[in-house]
Amino acid sequence: MSIFSNFTNLVKEIKKIDKSIDVRGRDFSELYEKNIRLEEEISERTKELEQANKTILTLNSVWDMMNSSQPLSNMLDNIVHILHEDMNYDFVSILKLDKDNENGNMFFSVKSTSSSKTVAKAFSFINESIESYKLPYVDNSIVVKSITEKKIYSTPDIKGMVKLFFPLLTDEQYKDVVSGVTSKSCTIVPLHNQKGSFGCVLVSSDRDGVTDTETNFLSLFANQIELAITVAGLFEEVKKQAITDPLTGLYNRRYFEDNIEKEAERSLRLKQPFSLVSLDLDYLKRINDTYGHQFGDIAIKTISNVLKKEARSIDIPARIGGEEFNLLLPGVDSQGALIAAERIRKSIENQVIDTIGGITASIGVATFLEHSDRIDELTELADQAMYNAKIKGRNQVQLAQKQDASNWQQTAIETFIDIIDKKRISVDDNISKAINQKLKNIKESSSNQNDAIYSIVDMISQTYNHSYKTGTTKSKLLLAVMLAKKIDLQPDEIDRLRLAILLYDIGNIMIPEAILNKKEPLTDKEKEIIKTHPVIAAREILKPISNIQDVIPIIENHHENWDGNGYPDKKAGVEVPILSQIVLLVDAFYAMAQDRPYRNAYTIDEIISIIKSEAGKQWNEKLVDDFIYVVKNEQSR
Ligand code: GH3
Ligand code: MG
Repeated sequence: MSIFSNFTNLVKEIKKIDKSIDVRGRDFSELYEKNIRLEEEISERTKELEQANKTILTLNSVWDMMNSSQPLSNMLDNIVHILHEDMNYDFVSILKLDKDNENGNMFFSVKSTSSSKTVAKAFSFINESIESYKLPYVDNSIVVKSITEKKIYSTPDIKGMVKLFFPLLTDEQYKDVVSGVTSKSCTIVPLHNQKGSFGCVLVSSDRDGVTDTETNFLSLFANQIELAITVAGLFEEVKKQAITDPLTGLYNRRYFEDNIEKEAERSLRLKQPFSLVSLDLDYLKRINDTYGHQFGDIAIKTISNVLKKEARSIDIPARIGGEEFNLLLPGVDSQGALIAAERIRKSIENQVIDTIGGITASIGVATFLEHSDRIDELTELADQAMYNAKIKGRNQVQLAQKQDASNWQQTAIETFIDIIDKKRISVDDNISKAINQKLKNIKESSSNQNDAIYSIVDMISQTYNHSYKTGTTKSKLLLAVMLAKKIDLQPDEIDRLRLAILLYDIGNIMIPEAILNKKEPLTDKEKEIIKTHPVIAAREILKPISNIQDVIPIIENHHENWDGNGYPDKKAGVEVPILSQIVLLVDAFYAMAQDRPYRNAYTIDEIISIIKSEAGKQWNEKLVDDFIYVVKNEQSR
């Protein structure tokens, strides 16, 4: 190869290198620029990612809130504050659309917040607060457009928004407000569910315009609010179902019991009474039997509707059982409660029901702090008053009778303590232990002391009468009290009667068991021994117990007959205390209703006819009439 060609080749190579250096140079500068662009993009994406991350976290915390079964109000509060504090909106408001409000369509502020002094100033100008603000519904306004078109709207026209929000500002106030506003954009996001639009979220910020990312974020947020409201609505519905009775929509027994307890605490603390109205539909059984159960249900619903209509918003009307209703009247004394009860009674009487015609109800009223300061006693007193209304002829209101401090329960408890402690009757050790335990429980707990007393008497009676059924003492006592009320005896006499019913047969414990439980008819001698029990009871067992001295004569005379053929003293007519006559009647009734070693139990009809046949002989005729009325009344219940 010649030097020339060598040189030419060299030059060519050099040119090539030159060229490549040139290309690389250009490449480098391009690369450099690209790098800068990339970095910018990365930083922008990172910002977006951060924003997205924040969005996810925020949405997540809203989601957590929804799962925590917080009340809706707390949840919305949190949502508004997250938007305000974490997402930097200087004004946030969740507005609820209220169509056909008495003032036309309106928006109500459900939750709103703002840290802007200018906003605070605007509210103070119009004497309103941000929490309870109402926004007028202005056709074609951006808020209404957003809701009706279900579209997110943004506007930089803050002045227009001030005018829309605060139409009542004077020109001067308006100028003052707009001059202080720092927001530059306002966004409205509509809220809707299956039922349609129910409001919007309104936010404003000092950022120029609103990016797509922000709009997306706000719409996700609105979805969460919608969901929260729906979930809370469902939750409320479930809660409502758990506290209401399905047939009538009134509160159920559990809710009532929870609330009467709260009311009693409040009442004791504030020394303010409350009243309990106990109501029972009259003759429902007859309605069911005559027209069918569905008409019985209609009667029940009719009463419920009257109770709903008559109750104030703080009252608690409840269906306690089939046809029993209670109404709790907070802060109402017995006089007020009687007026309310009478109004309810009248309203029930005035209802016209298809096919049935009309219905009536019997109502009892008892007042906390006035009649008792214990819930179990109050409930029992209201019930007794209601039964009293039934006995007196139904379709009426009766007020409870106050139990005074030295009530019969207390006397009964003291008497049994005395009898057991001083061994006035001889019972097995395990029975006296069981009775002692019951007496101890009564003193320590506030549970139903009446039932405990009845069960002590059941236990004692069972030691000498093997066919004495548990529960008999309670029904005897209730029957005796109903008869006493029917003949209008005074409360103190009724208390003595109660004690007599608990104690009149206690002398039987001294009679040999072989005689009491004998299968064959008794011999004359054995009958004489049995006849000694009233005297034994009264004289030997009860005489030393000071607080029942006025009960002893009732027991001593409880086998004297109206015609003078009873025992032990053959007293006759009005010489026989009326309370002793009641004890005798009730005792005879239950004796006949029980199997005896030597005969089977009689039916109620048989008993009634036996008692009738003895009217004027063993018993006063008038008392027999009243007794049969009470028994039949109970039988039809
Ligand atoms: P009184 O005037 O003494 O209250 O008589 P009454 O017939 O209303 O009362 P009683 O307690 O003797 O009978 C209540 C009846 O109510 C018996 C029961 O079958 C019926 N009942 C209970 N719950 C319902 C219910 O939800 N619907 C209907 N239709 N009947 C019911
Ligand atoms: Mg009834």
